[in-house]
Amino acid sequence: MNSLHLKSFIRCKRKAWLDFKGKKSYEVWSPHKAIDKINQFHIFSEFCNSELYTGLKACENGYKGVIGLKIKGNLFQNINAEIRPQLLVKTKGKSKWGQYKYLPAVYKLGHKITKEHLFDLAFSSMLLESFQESKIEIGLVISSFNGKVNVEEIYLNKKLRKKVLNVLLRLNECFEGFLPEITQDRKKCTICSWQKFCDKEAKENGYLTDIDGIGSKTASLLKTNGISDTQTLASYSEKQLGDKLSTFNDQKYEKASIFIKQAQAYISGEPYRISNKNDTSDLLEKTCSGFFIFDIESNPDDKHDFLYGFLKINNLFTKKEAHIYKPILNLKNNEGEAYRKIIEILFSKKQWPVLHYGETEKIAIINIAKNLNFSFEEIDSLASRFIDLHTLIRKSWILPLKNYSLKTVSNWLGFEWMQKNVSGAKAIYWWIQYQITGNEIFLKKIIQYNKDDCLATLQIAEYLIKNQLNKN
Ligand code: SF4
Repeated sequence: MNSLHLKSFIRCKRKAWLDFKGKKSYEVWSPHKAIDKINQFHIFSEFCNSELYTGLKACENGYKGVIGLKIKGNLFQNINAEIRPQLLVKTKGKSKWGQYKYLPAVYKLGHKITKEHLFDLAFSSMLLESFQESKIEIGLVISSFNGKVNVEEIYLNKKLRKKVLNVLLRLNECFEGFLPEITQDRKKCTICSWQKFCDKEAKENGYLTDIDGIGSKTASLLKTNGISDTQTLASYSEKQLGDKLSTFNDQKYEKASIFIKQAQAYISGEPYRISNKNDTSDLLEKTCSGFFIFDIESNPDDKHDFLYGFLKINNLFTKKEAHIYKPILNLKNNEGEAYRKIIEILFSKKQWPVLHYGETEKIAIINIAKNLNFSFEEIDSLASRFIDLHTLIRKSWILPLKNYSLKTVSNWLGFEWMQKNVSGAKAIYWWIQYQITGNEIFLKKIIQYNKDDCLATLQIAEYLIKNQLNKN
């Protein structure tokens, strides 16, 4: 077992097992991991004033920062372990290498120090102590805050070490057993490299957490009431189920009805229309004389929107090729220029609505308008042109899908991205690669991805409008 297995085990037992024993061909490359590694390297390099070297030789030479070291050791009888400290930082002391020693350090992305950080540090210190022949009292958590490197010291006390030993014993037991169940908290799965593999099994076995709106808490509430799979859920009546969902108070029958219909749609593969109000006929009316589709690519860790993409649709019923796509790159030193271009496009057709998927785009435009000192009235009138298709589709349809993300919905409608295995996270990865290398090929990939996002949004708009037309 190694540090990476321990990290996985804290998130999801099944992931640790799969990392150790799973068929690698079922695993999908995760851009999140790659982004993490790049960020990590930058911060560590800054923290060590670029005195960052690899491997054992670097320790022997006494460099300030050492990465890429793997240390093997024995934890308990017969259990071999390996640590892969993210970073070793030179400090005062005495070790087998001379009048200095090393402390383990980890990288932190968010604000909070989590179990993953603490356990990683404690595990590293346990094998590092005997390896360098020197005690370790503290470990470091390194992060970046407002562009500055931030360091927190963690006391690696006996209690923490004992906890880690217990977890490592459980990890060892896990490796000796069968593949663990899929985690109840499926939110964890969104950034996991085994997601496709687990999703397939969840669907085959009728997992309740496959139903949109059912998280781990609701799933266990349903299970204690004898409903353990989607088939059973789909067979219930609104009244029967609502009576079991008292935790939802006044909303219990409404929730019950949605869960049942969502389960029925998921099993049958057929969509279900939930609204007869004129939400979508309104969409037809608003878009008939032309509209924009708008989609942003952003890096949330940096709070930076790096690409704004517009698709100009004069007439919904003309060929896709007739629509004009305009990407606006927001390089950090030309923010004002990017904002000016965005406003220019939006005001080139003052009456046109702006269709987007999710709330991000509208929020971003309001912020840009504020930044440009627009009046309240101007901001209001601009914001009123935005139509969120994600909200609209959820209000009017129950789809036979696990979730209502742009990818899931548009894939179901038959839309395909030109580039394979793409995602918002991959676009961020390309953006980071572009910043490091300056290679325009990464920009091209991002722009193609964003254009496809706009076309996917268009496909959803078409679905909403055409189904309304068919009904009439
Ligand atoms: S996809 Fe989910 S259940 Fe499967 S290994 Fe990853 S986190 Fe665990």
